[in-house]
Amino acid sequence: MALSWNRTIEWDGDSWRERAACRDTDPDLFFPIGTTGQAIDQIREAKAVCRECEVQATCLEFALATNQESGVWGGASEEERKKLRKAWLARQRRAS
Ligand code: SF4
Repeated sequence: MALSWNRTIEWDGDSWRERAACRDTDPDLFFPIGTTGQAIDQIREAKAVCRECEVQATCLEFALATNQESGVWGGASEEERKKLRKAWLARQRRAS
């Protein structure tokens, strides 16, 4: 999956969480320990849930804006979000 982030979403408080596809899944799936072994399968499974989630873009924006360092958010792993956050911060600086 090619991840991209290119817009600013105004999230409406936490109401987007009510539409999260992960609401009824085991939270541990989204917070694997490490990045090898079983964690690889967990990350893959978590991303599969995210792909079906109607609030994926909002979730990713929230994670970037609030610097969520752990877990899978918006279909992005911790490492992927580090890269996306750099672009997000650069965009915020240009906009201000
Ligand atoms: S994008 Fe993924 S982590 Fe975010 S709310 Fe949806 S299912 Fe949960």
